[in-house]
Amino acid sequence: MHIPLQAYEASIFEKISSRAQHLGMEAWVIGGFVRDKILQRPTKDADIVCTGDGIALAHAVADLFKPRPHVSFFKNFGTAHIRIADFDIEFVGARKESYNRDSRKPAVEPGTIEDDQLRRDFTINALAISLNAKDYGTLVDPFGGIQHLQEKCIITPQDPIQTFSDDPLRMMRAIRFASQLQFTIHETTLAAIKTDAHRISIVSKERIVDELNKIILSSKPSVGFKLLYDTGLLKLIFPQMVALAGAQYLDGHGHKDNFYHTLQVLDNISENTRDLWLRWAAILHDIGKPATKRFEEGHGWTFHGHEVVGGRMVPKIFAQLKLPLNEKMKYVKLLVELHLRPISLTKENITDSAIRRLLFDAGEHFDDLMTLCEADITSKNKQKVKRYLSNFEMVRQRCVEVEENDRIRNWQPPIDGETIMQYFGIGPSREVGIIKNAIKDAILDGIIPNTLEAATALMLEQAQQLNLTPVR
Ligand code: ATP
Repeated sequence: MHIPLQAYEASIFEKISSRAQHLGMEAWVIGGFVRDKILQRPTKDADIVCTGDGIALAHAVADLFKPRPHVSFFKNFGTAHIRIADFDIEFVGARKESYNRDSRKPAVEPGTIEDDQLRRDFTINALAISLNAKDYGTLVDPFGGIQHLQEKCIITPQDPIQTFSDDPLRMMRAIRFASQLQFTIHETTLAAIKTDAHRISIVSKERIVDELNKIILSSKPSVGFKLLYDTGLLKLIFPQMVALAGAQYLDGHGHKDNFYHTLQVLDNISENTRDLWLRWAAILHDIGKPATKRFEEGHGWTFHGHEVVGGRMVPKIFAQLKLPLNEKMKYVKLLVELHLRPISLTKENITDSAIRRLLFDAGEHFDDLMTLCEADITSKNKQKVKRYLSNFEMVRQRCVEVEENDRIRNWQPPIDGETIMQYFGIGPSREVGIIKNAIKDAILDGIIPNTLEAATALMLEQAQQLNLTPVR
């Protein structure tokens, strides 16, 4: 099989080959690089496996470049890394691994190329290309990786129970590759995931969320989430999402299955954005529904306040999954809290002040919020979808008009909390919040003009009611 390489890749591999030969070693390119080349997917890094010391080979290869690239290495793991232009190359000696059932730390010993291929997760990730003089460029495929690439099949090189027991993260990786490559997981491999799902508990949260985020960034993430759900992994890593599943009927009233609805929203939004955090907002937009679900006699199912409850759940879920607790979390929380607001603006006779409030609250994330709301339309009725979309288009239009006049999106009220505290010689307190909000609300509602003078007058009036006196 001919594998087309970029000129710079071919030239680097030839250098690695010559250095390995000089050191009396054998070397191969292995893993994801080979898989992605055959699938004609972009590649930006390559793994080299060699007989003997990978760190020594990395140093010898680095010597051939000017300027000499930095070699970073981990002596304990026997791995080394160099970067040439934007191409990352990782070196490691071929090895055999044996694992203790309760630990992720394998006992490692030197092995043959086939030992090394056997310890890989899937046959499609165990393909190697020889860099040795005797068969340079030949594909080494002892476990049928090429056939499985053609069949779009994910299967482990050895008994899947063994592969997953050695490193349970591989269960998430199987699902990640299925979602990313739109491949099918072989039935025995899938059955082993169902059997072994509970062992995900020994894997670190960081490694799990890394794979989860890759599933979320695939072109149709519902594929991965359905597999996570069906195998039982989702319940273990992200139970709040599983709580969305199921539709209940009572007195002839039903509600939609919010798990499948959420997946539809996620797929919809993925057609319009590659932003991980906007996709997370889609996943979490209805997360407060199970906690707020009520049956109202004669009316049916309601989920009042689910956006508020959902917003409150966001920091907890981010902490539990070890996602960042920074502005990305705040962004997702904001979108969850606001996701119903544009719908309320599709009614008739909406005042400018309601529009101004949404612009103020969503700020720079207004367009993302509208993208989320549009993705939230999952009706099968084409007429309805058309009507909802055109309603949102009207909201967008109104917002453009109001924004042109009032410039609300990046607006801050003329008096902030700091000024209020200094003015009355008080510290952070409930009173500061009351005065600040009164000023903001009065301006957004058009009751007072957006000037320092009017805001100061209102501040004094509010302060009097709160028994505060100015210190100057
Ligand atoms: P991507 O670059 O999209 O994450 P990849 O397959 O290149 O995909 P890496 O995590 O870079 O993923 O791993 C490189 C190679 O190392 C894989 O192709 C596979 O052969 C092997 N590998 C990685 N993680 C594991 C694992 N947990 N168990 C077994 N083999 C693994």
